[in-house]
Amino acid sequence: MTSQPIQVVADLHTHTTCSDGVLSPIELITKAEQRGLQALAITDHDNLDAHRHLRDLGYNGPLRLISGVEISCYDFGREIHVLAYNVDVDDASLQEYEAFYRNDRARRAEEMVANLHQARAPISYQEVIDEAAGAPIGRPHVASVLVRRGFVPSIQAAFDVYLDVGKPGYAAKTPFPVAQAVEMIHAAGGTLSIAHPGRYFTDPAMFLPLVKTGVDGIEVYHPSHWHVTREFYRVMCQQHGLLVTGGSDFHGSREYDEANFGTFGLTAAGFEEFAATIASRHASVPKHD
Ligand code: AMP
Ligand code: MN
Ligand code: MN
Ligand code: MN
Repeated sequence: MTSQPIQVVADLHTHTTCSDGVLSPIELITKAEQRGLQALAITDHDNLDAHRHLRDLGYNGPLRLISGVEISCYDFGREIHVLAYNVDVDDASLQEYEAFYRNDRARRAEEMVANLHQARAPISYQEVIDEAAGAPIGRPHVASVLVRRGFVPSIQAAFDVYLDVGKPGYAAKTPFPVAQAVEMIHAAGGTLSIAHPGRYFTDPAMFLPLVKTGVDGIEVYHPSHWHVTREFYRVMCQQHGLLVTGGSDFHGSREYDEANFGTFGLTAAGFEEFAATIASRHASVPKHD
């Protein structure tokens, strides 16, 4: 992990209580304002609730808010996260997708609870529901219950022992192909970026099939990227005409979140290019036919 000796003005990857983050949307916005950010994209897992909530609140502060969502895809034999920006939050097929995965995550959480009973960590589904407090249920909610009930000493241990892929408590969500996310997001006027590619693609040859799905950009700046990884993806963007994105992936629950917030993201020049691209993509989508 490296920090960047540059002025970050935009964080394009963050989470709130609408998924597995600890700050509410308005708390996160306040924090971003205090850090001196100019632009923020809230990108909760598989839902846009934060953006509809903020619209209803009528937020009118200095921060430029960009609608976003981090879509959990399953493709090429593994989980791949795709960030989508500047979507129409009332888009019907997007809302259908959100509702489907809210249910799917509930179904999967019940399955994880059953698996955990088998693995002698008997927590209840109701505890997990309470922990999620209305947000679509994620593994971190299950992990928190495991910690509180004393089955593991930390969230990290909960993943290592029970919840990571292949561990006894794990259960999968219904797979969602990247190409389907591309089609859905483009129809909603949005722009897509592959989240933290360094997590999945150590072999550059594996990367091209993913680019061919039609994604528009790559998250180059992310706390999990070593500087060599970052440079590799930056060059890939130049070679393939892809948009560079970046963000802290702030959840507020890990000790490194604090240092990463305001440190990972785009500079003024990078954000200008990002803003122009998402605006032109949005404008090019016919609203009626
Ligand atoms: P889910 O979307 O329910 O599969 O949960 C994935 C989320 O769990 C990620 O977005 C992270 O916030 C968190 N997570 C994934 N792997 C780990 C890990 N090894 N340790 C801690 N948190 C993790
Ligand atoms: Mn998360
Ligand atoms: Mn992710
Ligand atoms: Mn994320």
